[in-house]
Amino acid sequence: MTDFVTPGVPADTAELIALDRAHVWHPYASMTDPTPAYPVVGASGVRLQFADGREVVDGMSSWWAAIHGYRHPVLDAAARDQLDRMSHVMFGGLTHPGAIGLAQRLVAITGEGMEHVFFSDSGSVGVEVAIKMALQYWRGRGEPRQRLLTVRGGYHGDTFATMAVCDPVGGMHHLFTGVLPEHLFAPRPPDGYDAPLDEAWVAATADLLARHAGEVAAVIVEPTVQGAGGMRFHSPACVRALRELCDAHGVLLILDEIATGFGRTGAWFAHLAADVVPDILCVGKAMTGGYLSMAATLCTPAVAASVCSGEAGALMHGPTYMANPLAAAVACANLDLLATGAWREQVAGIEAGLRAGLAAADGLPKVADVRVLGAIGVIETVGPVDVRAVTEAALAHGVWLRPFSNLIYTMPPYVTGAADVTRIAAAMVAGARANAGV
Ligand SMILES: *Cc1c(COP(=O)(O)O)cnc(C)c1O
Repeated sequence: MTDFVTPGVPADTAELIALDRAHVWHPYASMTDPTPAYPVVGASGVRLQFADGREVVDGMSSWWAAIHGYRHPVLDAAARDQLDRMSHVMFGGLTHPGAIGLAQRLVAITGEGMEHVFFSDSGSVGVEVAIKMALQYWRGRGEPRQRLLTVRGGYHGDTFATMAVCDPVGGMHHLFTGVLPEHLFAPRPPDGYDAPLDEAWVAATADLLARHAGEVAAVIVEPTVQGAGGMRFHSPACVRALRELCDAHGVLLILDEIATGFGRTGAWFAHLAADVVPDILCVGKAMTGGYLSMAATLCTPAVAASVCSGEAGALMHGPTYMANPLAAAVACANLDLLATGAWREQVAGIEAGLRAGLAAADGLPKVADVRVLGAIGVIETVGPVDVRAVTEAALAHGVWLRPFSNLIYTMPPYVTGAADVTRIAAAMVAGARANAGV
């Protein structure tokens, strides 16, 4: 007698889809009336293999993470090698070479000031840890503060503390009124990576911070690219202005580079391109090359010292899978691939390919804006996109896209070749046409 029977996973696509619909909840999805999910049975390079036999180019890098594509021999070997040593070991009271090697690498590549690394299992948790660090920093100084200041249009995660600093209109605030702490929102940084600094925006932000300076623990923003909040680009000068305002009021600056880190914007890290040293830095997504979920929160010695001088004497956080050795081993190999510098040419090539290919979307009906920065290409639509129509139009071009809100966008793997970049851009333009019904 067994306690339960383990059902086999069917090979048949229709059966897979039926079971998925019956039991599996998808992100931001209805369980009772789900939109279609396409079963994937394999992936290699920049291509996903669907269960129905189709092979499509991945324009999403699996939510911006798989920068070196799928089944990369170096990353696969790092995972296998670590599997033969140990998949996991607890991090309380123990340590291991993978975590130490990854911390060394992160400290080396994130620039001045970032000396200490706290590992966690996802970006949202990494941002939670950053917020906790900031609050414990002020407790350590004997001046407890719990408010945060951010800008409109941001995205920092789906857990409760992070939702509270997502855009108050586009985010989920209205769904959780009364549950989320109320933070301060400065205007969205003016659009344009190359735009001159808008003094009116600086003045409005400075005014808000000055009025609440004594309560604000930290300013938290995504430097130069607001990702899931709207795929908007702003100038590094805005990030520098925030650093100056924080310095003027003795407030901490948390930079969330979970989307922008590791070359995505064309710069190694957005804060380095902006020549800004944050007090606390969050990285995640591409850190393991899309293999395993892992994030890291880095900070300066001054932050660490104050956190640890407080009543707790420690940072009060410790995820079960903290510094998971498998994830750490793949992350080290992934960072070593990036260290060759090949990403610079790859990202520049994608940027040029997207600029050329997406120009055809300019002026199409229901297209509000077309923009490209690094390996990020965006067609912003007038009104919400018809997700199903755009997805199907892209698939008909052999490309996987996942539009949301009013955005048809791509963040392809850095290893995407020129012909595939052209194909992705064509699929996006076809998506924009399908969205407008033309
Ligand atoms: C994706 C993202 C997060 C959340 O990361 P998860 O791993 O999905 O929890 C936080 N901040 C930014 C800027 C992100 O892009």
